This record gives sequence, C-alpha cells and structure tokens, in this order.
Amino acid sequence: VVYRGRGASVAARLGAVAALTRSVGGADYRLPHTGVMSYAADAPKIPAGAVTSEDADLIEHLAKQGRVRLHLTLTPQELPPVESYNVIGDLKGSEHPEQVVIVSGHLDSWDLGTGAIDDAAGIAVAMQAAQVMKQLGLRPRRTLRVIAWMDEEGGLIGARSYVQQHGAEIGNHFAAVESDLGAGHAMGINFAGPPQLQALLRPVASVLQSSGAGTLRASEEVGSDISALTAAGVPSFSPIQDTRFYFDYHHTAADTLDKVVLRELQENGAVMSVLSYALTNLAVDLPRSAPRPPRD
Ligand SMILES: [Zn+2]
Repeated sequence: VVYRGRGASVAARLGAVAALTRSVGGADYRLPHTGVMSYAADAPKIPAGAVTSEDADLIEHLAKQGRVRLHLTLTPQELPPVESYNVIGDLKGSEHPEQVVIVSGHLDSWDLGTGAIDDAAGIAVAMQAAQVMKQLGLRPRRTLRVIAWMDEEGGLIGARSYVQQHGAEIGNHFAAVESDLGAGHAMGINFAGPPQLQALLRPVASVLQSSGAGTLRASEEVGSDISALTAAGVPSFSPIQDTRFYFDYHHTAADTLDKVVLRELQENGAVMSVLSYALTNLAVDLPRSAPRPPRD
C-alpha cells in the first residue's frame, strides 16, 4: 500500500515519466488493486496507475527480452467535495455516560467495489456489539458509541472532523475500537497503548479463546479512522483477522457480499461484543499513552 501511496513521487525523483503499481493481492483474477495515492511537494507529479499481477508479470517478462513501451490512457477525475456525515449512535452509560467507548468501521468504500469487506463488515460487527447488549438486556456503565466513519478512503475526512469537533472531550474517550481489515476468521485483539493493557485484556482473551480468538498482540496502529485518537493517548483496539484473502478483493470490483463468510463475520462480532462489554464495564481506568503527533 505504501508503494501505491507514495511510489509515484519516489519514481519521479529518479526520473520516471509515469509509475505503475502491481496489485497487492495474490489472487489470479486479473483485477487491478486501486486506492488513494498522493504526490510529494518536492517531486514532479507524474501519471500513476495500478496494474493487475498478471499484467505486471507480463511487463516483467517482456522487459527481460528488451525495451518495453507502454501507452497509458488514464481517466481519473477528482470531483468537488459534497456534504456527508459520520453516522453515530450512543448506548448511554448508566454510571459514566460522559465516558465513551467507540466501536466503529467506515461507511465509504473505494469506488470499484461495493465495499462489502471494506468496510461494511466493520460497521456490521460494530453495530453487532450494541445489538448484543440490547438483546441481552445489559446496560453498559460507560457509553458505547457506534460510529460509521465517513470518507476514510479519501483521507480520513470523517475521522478528522470528529476529532476537531470532540477535541475538548478526548480525555473522556475511554477506548476506541475499529474493524477495517475485512471479515476473515477472528484470531484475537490488537491493542495500541501501554503494555499494561495486555494483563487487563487477559480475561477478555480467555472468554474468546474457545472461538480461536484468544490472541493478544501489541501494535502501534490498530485502525486508520481511530489513529488520531490513538495518537492522542486513547487506548485503541481492533480484531486480529485472517487477512490472507483481504488484499485479493478490497479496492477491486470483486469486493462484494459473497466474499463475507457468515460464520467468520459472527466470530468478529463476538470479539467486538466481548471486548466492548469489558471496556464499557471495566472497574478500573485504562492506562493511557502520552499524546504524540498524529501521522500524516
Ligand atoms: Zn477500509
């Protein structure tokens, strides 16, 4: 993804006239894997495109035999922004309604696919967490806030405006969870924050162990939309998922509902539900990291 995002400027500095990025996925369906890219200020803005793995292999094969000439017809359009919204629903906390635990996914998708795995699946499991609490008649002590972030793909626009609007209440954001790596088999929980979080999460992991989701893994970043909250010191979490097939489909025309396996989606829903129940009801405060500047 970093090659797609920044490759054109790196190539331009080396004198390239255009840059093509090979698909990240390993699938053999001749699908270009697309997504956002940006130009560095100090490099010429050369045309950039995505090619399928099969075509990248062909170009490589031909290049071994001699000089290859490519004619590019690129038709990108960037339309002016329109008004849109994050969709937010709160299940009010009974004891600390001002303290917020976010569970989330993002509402938009890259334009080629319908966005079933990126990221309708994430929103589904976030909504599931609130739904399970309702169904079981549980009232969280802290507020459970379900967020469907708008415009992640265009550059975290919804997440940035949320932080702008709620900047004064960051201290009341107890934790943030995002699912944005598909709907594959859930294997545990990523956490970003102080290492002591691991011991606090152990009871959660042992509940999830029976479904194969008992692994705990420290990670610097756990979700793009919540990365600004993570940087601000809010303990942050995401499901660890089997992502072997994610890059075959997301940001391609094949990101459709048939790629979501119900059983695996349910496993992710279980991780989100158990984790968010624990976070909204935990008897102690979570340790927080010192704030650091968010990444670009
Ligand atoms: Zn996504």
